[in-house]
Amino acid sequence: MNAPTICIVGGGMVGCALAALLGRDQRYPGAVVLLEAGDPPALKDDYDLRVVALATTSQRVLEAAGAWREIAATRISPYREMQVWDAASKPGFPGSVHFSAAEVGAAALGHIVENQLVRHALWRSLAGMERVSVRSNCRVDDLRLGDGTALLSLADGEVVDCTLVVAADGASSPIREMAEIETTGWSYRQKAVVTHVQSQLPHRETAWQRFLPSGPLAFLPLADGRSSVVWSNTVGGADRLLGLSDKEFLGELEAASDGTLGRMLACGQRAAFPLRLLHARNYCRQRLVLIGDAAHAIHPLAGQGVNLGFLDAAALHETLVKALQAGEDPGDRLVLRRYERWRKGDNLAMLAAMDGIKRLFSNDLPSLARIRGLGLSLVNALPPARKAFVRRAMGMSGDLPELLTGPAHPGYGLREEVR
Ligand SMILES: Cc1cc2nc3c(=O)[nH]c(=O)nc-3n(C[C@H](O)[C@H](O)[C@H](O)COP(=O)(O)OP(=O)(O)OC[C@H]3O[C@@H](n4cnc5c(N)ncnc54)[C@H](O)[C@@H]3O)c2cc1C
Repeated sequence: MNAPTICIVGGGMVGCALAALLGRDQRYPGAVVLLEAGDPPALKDDYDLRVVALATTSQRVLEAAGAWREIAATRISPYREMQVWDAASKPGFPGSVHFSAAEVGAAALGHIVENQLVRHALWRSLAGMERVSVRSNCRVDDLRLGDGTALLSLADGEVVDCTLVVAADGASSPIREMAEIETTGWSYRQKAVVTHVQSQLPHRETAWQRFLPSGPLAFLPLADGRSSVVWSNTVGGADRLLGLSDKEFLGELEAASDGTLGRMLACGQRAAFPLRLLHARNYCRQRLVLIGDAAHAIHPLAGQGVNLGFLDAAALHETLVKALQAGEDPGDRLVLRRYERWRKGDNLAMLAAMDGIKRLFSNDLPSLARIRGLGLSLVNALPPARKAFVRRAMGMSGDLPELLTGPAHPGYGLREEVR
């Protein structure tokens, strides 16, 4: 077949990562077109409000995408430990669990990075790639999927044809809607309030998470000593927190964190994001495939959303390259079904696990409180269980793409690093 053209709709972290993986891979002979409705990412002097906890697997994907060096040289914080505890307990007491990277022979459990920094670094990596064209302020308004080609209509009237459309356009995915792919899921009727805070006590490169009946409260370490707060709450509760003065907000945050990081001294701007669970019934059609939040959106309590998305990007990259090497059409549904079968099980398992944890912890029934306390204490007391959780949090379970495990990309193997 002729050299393919793959159009990726959505220049978020996941769409950019796939574009870069394809653009850097000599085995992919075709063109890549990345279409993003918004502006190119801009890096501000101060930390952006949105940050993500990137697992080791995501770091490897970003290395392969040519973006990690810039990310690591800018402002990121490793988190080497994780402390999780129930509202009725305290760190270090029954009803709490402590995870450590050292326990699995790794330097860090992951890194806290601003979303915009990840996008910025990927965007810069893409700028140097001959076979990739990146178009910002370019909204896709319509989609027609044929047997042999796909047509995308842009807001300015232009029509782009391609071999395959990749929908990386986020949880509200207009492309998924246009293709009439149904989703299952529900709103948590919660919002996550996010801000950056300066606390009296140092964060000690630890991710702290306290489960409150109203939702989990997390403190993620930033490189300048502050912590990024993700505070899940009822919609009314979140809106109320947004309306408080800084002083009132800091007082409530200090109480909600049980003073674990001492007094809360200062906070930055605050914003809230609605939380929902969403899963696409199908990840593909003839000439169309979904990745990242377009395929699945998850509660942020264990910081897994974009980590799953990067695994989607790496798995799809591998599927497409192998299909092309075998002389197959990368837009054929049978090829795309291989990617769907590969990723759906892992994504669904993670969605279900996070949903279960969210339900178990977000209530104040005394019987469930006892089960929670016992469960956390048990995991804490059993090193194999703790290690299994750590491996899962680092993305080291399930059927991983060769990029992360195999000899095809020396230097990206994880096996020797995580024992
Ligand atoms: C409070 C909060 C905390 C989180 N913390 C973590 C964490 O710690 N770790 C983690 O792994 N995940 C976390 N997540 C989840 C993570 O942010 C998402 O999984 C991730 O941003 C999804 O990336 P994406 O590229 O798939 O989609 P998006 O980031 O939504 O990008 C989609 C892109 O598509 C573009 N687009 C949309 N429609 C069109 C169109 N018609 N034409 C062209 N372009 C279009 C949009 O402009 C956008 O740039 C968190 C989420 C929340 C809400």
